[in-house]
Amino acid sequence: RETSANTATEAELPKRTVVLTHADRIYWPDEGVTKEGLADYYTDVWKYMAPFVVQRPLALLRCPDGVNGQSFFQKHAWKGLNKNIVLIHDPKEKDEGPLVSIDDLDGLLGLVQAGSLELHPWGITIADWEHPDMIIMDLDPGPGVPWERVIEAAEETRDRMKEAGLAAFIKTSGGKGLHVVSPLKPKADWPAVKAFTKSVADQMAADSPERYVSTITKSKRQGKILVDYLRNQRGSTAVAPYSTRARPGAAVSMPLAWEELSPAIGPAYFTVNNTPNRLAALRSDPWEDFRAAAAPLEQLKSK
Ligand code: ATP
Ligand code: MN
Ligand code: MN
Repeated sequence: RETSANTATEAELPKRTVVLTHADRIYWPDEGVTKEGLADYYTDVWKYMAPFVVQRPLALLRCPDGVNGQSFFQKHAWKGLNKNIVLIHDPKEKDEGPLVSIDDLDGLLGLVQAGSLELHPWGITIADWEHPDMIIMDLDPGPGVPWERVIEAAEETRDRMKEAGLAAFIKTSGGKGLHVVSPLKPKADWPAVKAFTKSVADQMAADSPERYVSTITKSKRQGKILVDYLRNQRGSTAVAPYSTRARPGAAVSMPLAWEELSPAIGPAYFTVNNTPNRLAALRSDPWEDFRAAAAPLEQLKSK
């Protein structure tokens, strides 16, 4: 590869002022990833990750003692937060406590300091809480589904999004599946976006009942893929692009180019440890056009 998208020198790395305590604490023992290693990882990916985590409500999976310790899924702010973390209020939940957001890499490092091993943003920015700026179709393979089928499900989802006039981007979940993500101009409201994503999932299940289900009945999932559209309702979250996963292996949710989907790249293929090599080898960011490709969700066409 003759060019590289990430020939960043120290001078080009984003500003970073958070001082980590217990920087040597090991978060992923199997991969030898420490708190400082996690902070370095996020510094490397920050320029790609920022649009997906800045100024959005964030739910966090916190594991202060690493992936083998206790974990807490936190939707609200807690006491003793780093000063770089910005507290926000859901305009529709006046009585609930504040939510967490960040403006910059220091905010993310404040979350790292607090043992946040997964970041789960909402599909809105705080400039407009009622109109999502993306759709996430979460493809969850049941037991026994070959990876090739999951890839085909992602491609079919992409094609159905295209039919509705939407672009579609693909990322690994870092867990078991894939996420198809479509950028939206924030025009349609939550109920409209949820209804649209439900119609896509239901149609896939109706057209290929041997492959897909659209409801979360575990017993029906053997050998099938759940097209989980429920990330697309108000207050729901999905793991952010480039977020780490709080599981052994230190996998991350990695944005890919569609051409990269292959049996060789499984859902947890990319990790904290191999991402620097990936970024160095990338000719361009596969999600570079994400925001520019945003379109408004048109009125639901009935089939
Ligand atoms: P996979 O590919 O393994 O399905 P995923 O990120 O798509 O990975 P999960 O990690 O199982 O799926 O999480 C599903 C969604 O539920 C996530 O997007 C997250 O925002 C939310 N979530 C995860 N953990 C919790 C929790 N403990 N409580 C509430 N919601 C959660
Ligand atoms: Mn999933
Ligand atoms: Mn799911």
